[in-house]
Amino acid sequence: MNIKRNYDYLLSDLSSLKGVGIKTTNLLKRKKINSIFDLLWKLPKSYTDRSLSSKIEDLKIDEVQTITIIPQKYSFPRVRNLPNRVLCKDETGEIDCVFFNSYEGYIKKILPIGKEVTISGKIKYFRNKYQLTNPRYISEDSSIVKQKHNNYSLTDGITEKIYNKIMLQIIKNLPDIDEWHSKEILKKFNNVSWKESIKKLHEPENIGKFKEDFYQRLAYDEIFSTFLVNSEIRKKIKKIKKTRKKFDTKKQNEIISKLDFSLTDDQNKTLDEINKDLCSDNKMFRLLQGDVGSGKTIVSLLSAFNTINSDFQVAVMAPTEILARQHFLLAKKIFPKNIEIELLSGKSTYKNKKDILSRLIKNKIDIIFGTHALFQKKIQFNKLGLIIIDEQHKFGVNQRKKLSDKAGKDCDVLLMTATPIPRTLTMTIYGDMDLSIIREKPNNRKPVKTYSKLESKIEDVIKFIKKEIHLGNQIFWVCPLIEESKKIDHTSAVKKSEYLKKIFPNQVYLLHGKTTIEEKEKILNKFLKNEFKILVSTTIIEVGIDFPNANVIIIENANKFGLSQLHQLRGRVGRGNKESSCILMFKSNLSDNAKKRISILKESNDGFEISEEDMKLRGYGDILGFKQSGIKNFKLADPIHNHNLFILAEKEIKRIENDREDISKFKPLIKLYDRADIINDIA
Ligand code: ADP
Ligand code: MG
Repeated sequence: MNIKRNYDYLLSDLSSLKGVGIKTTNLLKRKKINSIFDLLWKLPKSYTDRSLSSKIEDLKIDEVQTITIIPQKYSFPRVRNLPNRVLCKDETGEIDCVFFNSYEGYIKKILPIGKEVTISGKIKYFRNKYQLTNPRYISEDSSIVKQKHNNYSLTDGITEKIYNKIMLQIIKNLPDIDEWHSKEILKKFNNVSWKESIKKLHEPENIGKFKEDFYQRLAYDEIFSTFLVNSEIRKKIKKIKKTRKKFDTKKQNEIISKLDFSLTDDQNKTLDEINKDLCSDNKMFRLLQGDVGSGKTIVSLLSAFNTINSDFQVAVMAPTEILARQHFLLAKKIFPKNIEIELLSGKSTYKNKKDILSRLIKNKIDIIFGTHALFQKKIQFNKLGLIIIDEQHKFGVNQRKKLSDKAGKDCDVLLMTATPIPRTLTMTIYGDMDLSIIREKPNNRKPVKTYSKLESKIEDVIKFIKKEIHLGNQIFWVCPLIEESKKIDHTSAVKKSEYLKKIFPNQVYLLHGKTTIEEKEKILNKFLKNEFKILVSTTIIEVGIDFPNANVIIIENANKFGLSQLHQLRGRVGRGNKESSCILMFKSNLSDNAKKRISILKESNDGFEISEEDMKLRGYGDILGFKQSGIKNFKLADPIHNHNLFILAEKEIKRIENDREDISKFKPLIKLYDRADIINDIA
């Protein structure tokens, strides 16, 4: 009985390949190629056509050619630096095969006297004779040489010949795998099977044929498997039954009525979505996505309030202490006095911490704010009903799933991110969650006026700042990474702050990579309290902190940032109801492409729109949040070029969900496509 599944071959270790030694295996492993399946995505860059053979008299010098010859005579001088030679001929002439550093035994084996051998390589002419040095394509079987041979990028120290040999072997042994796609889907790719597609992918003639059915199918496989895993995680989490939360929205509305603004429609809509989840008996696993400044915090606090009103505890986790504190203070301000609110801070004393821990477990704290420290083992809740995680774009799918597992049976999960990304990427990165989106910004917001300025015109900028400071406003000054080296980055920011300090004595502070966390918090707090006017920083100013009094941001070397990043930075200002500005500084005149990008930024204030445009201009790899998301980069699929495939996959997933289709036929797909870590307990 053979219980080996046909796709096991693909998942097996490289050592199972014939003729591949430990050295090659290790070189490949260094390139993160661990299985035969991984090797399938090592694609040829180009090919060399060795299929046509010539006669010696017709050889062209300095070109790669193939000839069939008969070795005549060995010459092994056994003198250092003198190469071994084999005189060969065909009926039209003679050629010397020259070997440096090859053993006589090896030479005799590959070029036996009197036997016909086919050989291919770059032909040289030396001392009146044709010559081929260190030939690598040699065989008595001419069909092995007379082929189109793929060229691979060889940075990893493995020769072309080895790659060709390995790939030929793999392609020959590709297993037949039962088709996982439906007939309808398969028809869209002209019914080309997975195996056939992989074969075609490696054929020299097909290099770069991204539009062909085989390529599209394989790209689709990748997208679809990602979505399918996401969908399974989502289904699995939603299946978890929990105690329904019961609360009276009257109390929530009392809080809303006391705010000094009214909620936007999108805030109301998303709050309803979350409340519905809280009241259902399925666990919530939801992402609240909204541009910077769209007002996510209040939505999350109101849902926290409802959770508390149904007799549960809430934990709110922020990426930094200062942001945790800001949320904490807001809760203190808007929640009724009878609600127990705490902040767990690195600065809390031991005694204070101990006290907080013991009150948490006794259910004497209703809501606690903090950083990731909230998820230490020793922190135990009595009745945790909701976890809110702010600015979570650094979390990958795996981390999120772990979090949800850890949260406990009755605990809903709400994640928030201010990183608008294109729709195709949303499905890819956040497809495991339900999504609530705030698109609309509070209508008291005036769009941030965006200007570009040459660095040589810095005097104008200084004049402008003086005016703003005079009006009581505060300024962010961002000096981005100039070189990869932190040192240079650092000195340029130091220089800039020295320069500004001369003009604005006692009004300038600097934050850079080496500022300690405590120092940083101190400076940010001072800035928050308007105790100085200009904050110079190298690193991106903490996402999410609200500085209502800052209304100008200067971004030096702005071309170093992607549009989405610039938009995020710009979102640091313009949160109050003042007129605010963003000045993008450039070292030299802008290229046409750069001008195009900047004009998008000037014209639009919608992070989602900007991210779509940014992706079109720069490719998806650079989109903010994508790299940090932890999802593996696609091997073939590209959210820009394969937009239609993403849409197709989304539709198909919906259909499968609606029809409650059995997904066991997708098992090989899921296993192969690298998501085994997530999928283990699913498939
Ligand atoms: P983000 O979505 O980036 O987390 P915040 O929740 O920090 O945004 O909100 C940014 C600012 O907008 C805060 O000062 C908040 O008080 C204010 N705000 C939130 N909702 C509204 C609204 N509907 N109208 C006016 N201002 C609002
Ligand atoms: Mg926020």
